[in-house]
Amino acid sequence: MPTKTASKPAVKNDYPKIVVPPPGPKAQKVIALDKEWTSPSYIKEYPFVMAGGQGAMAEDVDGNRYIDWMSGIAVSATGYNHPKVVAAVQEAAGKFLHICGTDFYYEGMAKLCERLAKSAPGPGKHRVFLTNSGTEAVEGAVKLARYHTKRSHLIAFDGAFHGRTYAAVTLTASKVKYKAGFGPLLPEVTHLPYNNPYRGVDGLAEAEHVFKTRVSPKDVAAVVMEPVQGEGGYVFPKPEFLKAWRKICDEHGILLVFDEIQCGMGRTGKLWAADYFGVVPDVLLTAKGLGSGLPIGAIIAKESVMTWPQGSHGTTFGGNPVACAAALATLDLVESGLCANARVQGERLLSGLRRLQQKHASIGDVRGVGLMIGVEFVKDRASKEPDHDLVAKLELAAFRKGLLLLSCGQSVIRVAPPLVLTEHDVDAGLAIMDECLSELGR
Ligand code: PLP
Repeated sequence: MPTKTASKPAVKNDYPKIVVPPPGPKAQKVIALDKEWTSPSYIKEYPFVMAGGQGAMAEDVDGNRYIDWMSGIAVSATGYNHPKVVAAVQEAAGKFLHICGTDFYYEGMAKLCERLAKSAPGPGKHRVFLTNSGTEAVEGAVKLARYHTKRSHLIAFDGAFHGRTYAAVTLTASKVKYKAGFGPLLPEVTHLPYNNPYRGVDGLAEAEHVFKTRVSPKDVAAVVMEPVQGEGGYVFPKPEFLKAWRKICDEHGILLVFDEIQCGMGRTGKLWAADYFGVVPDVLLTAKGLGSGLPIGAIIAKESVMTWPQGSHGTTFGGNPVACAAALATLDLVESGLCANARVQGERLLSGLRRLQQKHASIGDVRGVGLMIGVEFVKDRASKEPDHDLVAKLELAAFRKGLLLLSCGQSVIRVAPPLVLTEHDVDAGLAIMDECLSELGR
């Protein structure tokens, strides 16, 4: 049963507030029903049962209110029910719910494609293909790269996450569970090391070696890369790493595909992470935050690259009119203030987390920009051995005190809150994290 939260404004800063230890009785009912009927493949990080939300506040079915530092894995860019996004969705839904954009025209699709094409990093004209999801954008990009270059090989990176359909899961190399038992996967995919400053991995020497010994760069259609790794651990490479790959791609006629499904849409304080690094990809993929939660993604490619002919690629639901309306409203908000807010609150969060790092020896590294911050936990700072158990305990302890966290990599908390985060959300969240780590004795 829906609570009143979604329609009733939250009392300002009247959260976090735990009124019944979670999961409360109503949450337990939902969890029991879910466990009975849903696919056992779902993860369910901890027993949070959402009922409503506003801004960066999420409320559960028992009336507990939490500060959200994860936004449903970097999706709720504008918060849980931004009035401008809700109004745009309601208006579009009141007109028509669907007409297949592959076969017919509607204004929202044309407008969104124009908007995204014009937002693409770098000069020249771009074109856009709209999808339902991140993984569909990755699949489409692989097809486009192979079609355009007439080459077959793909380069991806250790620690990458690109999705769960066959091309995307083949490119993925963050955790083996995503692949185990699902083979055969796509042939002709080579993984190379990703630059990781904290762990002292450079990555470029291996690329040179592989191109000399195993894969001719002239057979490579695309290098598919997250400019900041998400699921792999919120890893920020040195800008030189991305620049070096741009150069390699230019030398050999390879397409550079940036998967910005997690790190794009204002999360780094710029619309695209490519803008932050100053590196221009040939193809840029977005999804997650694009529709503030409505399912939509996009392949944004240079016009000179998007050469596939009429009928060669399509989708039934991709670019659904209601999702397009949500995306246009989201872009308005992100470009007119939320990028700036991500920079301001991101600074506050980053310095607060660095203060916690000075106090708690378990925090090995704090890295990030904007509202994309990784906090890596280690057993000791010298060995940098990942402390996976601590992260699991911290997530649960924070949840019980009213802070929603989410892990990634081996032992990283990914801080990816809605871009509407306030000072209150930063400070109260930091206080909870501090308290939890003290109680856990780490
Ligand atoms: N690429 C990246 C970088 C992601 O983080 C994700 C999802 O977490 C995907 C692709 C897949 O997106 P989706 O789950 O919408 O298919």
